[in-house]
Amino acid sequence: MKLTDIFKVSEKTFSFEFYPPRDEIAAVDFGLNIGQLIKLSPSFVSVTYGAGGSTQSRTFDLVDYLKNRVGLNTVAHYTCVGSTRSRTLEDLKTLRKLGLQNFMLLRGDPEVGSKYGFIPCYDGFANATELITFAREFIDDCCIGGGAYPEVHPESPSAEIDMKNLKKKVDAGCDFLITQFFFDNKRYFDFVARARKAGIKCRIIPGIIPLTKYAQLERFVNLSRASVPPAFLEQLESNRYNPDAVYKAGMDFAIRQCRDLLMLGAPGLHFYTLNKSRATVEIYQTLMVR
Ligand SMILES: Cc1cc2nc3c(=O)[nH]c(=O)nc-3n(C[C@H](O)[C@H](O)[C@H](O)COP(=O)(O)OP(=O)(O)OC[C@H]3O[C@@H](n4cnc5c(N)ncnc54)[C@H](O)[C@@H]3O)c2cc1C
Repeated sequence: MKLTDIFKVSEKTFSFEFYPPRDEIAAVDFGLNIGQLIKLSPSFVSVTYGAGGSTQSRTFDLVDYLKNRVGLNTVAHYTCVGSTRSRTLEDLKTLRKLGLQNFMLLRGDPEVGSKYGFIPCYDGFANATELITFAREFIDDCCIGGGAYPEVHPESPSAEIDMKNLKKKVDAGCDFLITQFFFDNKRYFDFVARARKAGIKCRIIPGIIPLTKYAQLERFVNLSRASVPPAFLEQLESNRYNPDAVYKAGMDFAIRQCRDLLMLGAPGLHFYTLNKSRATVEIYQTLMVR
């Protein structure tokens, strides 16, 4: 089912993002975790797409499995990294033949340590807008999502320019947007207000990452430049050698964050699960009973 059809009947969606497991042990672990998550009947799930051949084929295998064997509404991520036009066409057609109708089309990140930023491959795409324009031209009957950055994409010179580029991306054919994770809801709601003012009408689904380990703080906050409310940061810092306390602080924060987002009108929640179920299941169950 296309997400656009789900949006017609669901005011709010609850969705989970996975990445393809790296090896056999990770695959077993993933199976255990997804078993718990499926019980929550997500509106849809999505699978990320990484740089490098084997990761890419694992994305295809996993979306095929989740869609056709498990029966979930599944979104396949796809990026411009290493994708020529002919390869992209072939890949998107392969996914369509597998029955996939939902795609998150992204640019992808520059190579780690690259001095020159993102360099498109020969005959490839310079940004997600170009990829989406191409997909709209050649792939029938599909629903396309794009990434959005409430705290501005790290390569953008300003919030205004980033918003103009986002509008171009949506006009190229985005049916919905999913945000980078954030910890300050005000940033999300301000961003949505600015997007509406810029003429962007599609759903902007907030991306949520529950911080449950101290190490995740540096890893994710550096990655996204997401601002962390000082009181929460202080709780994490002061408990950095106490994993149980960090877990509890992270969960309390995430539950409050999700509850407030829903109460204030967000059109659902998209959980970056990191292939683990515990935090997402706990948040979800707490929200549903309150
Ligand atoms: C929900 C979500 C899912 C993701 N999934 C994956 C994944 O599966 N695999 C992966 O590798 N990465 C993934 N990413 C990360 C993403 O690839 C990076 O954040 C990347 O740096 C930007 O991708 P984008 O599609 O948002 O880029 P774009 O929309 O192309 O934007 C990138 C930069 O280019 C600028 N820009 C955009 N359009 C134009 C234009 N027309 N002219 C000039 N400048 C322009 C933007 O302002 C921005 O600074 C995901 C991100 C999000 C938010």
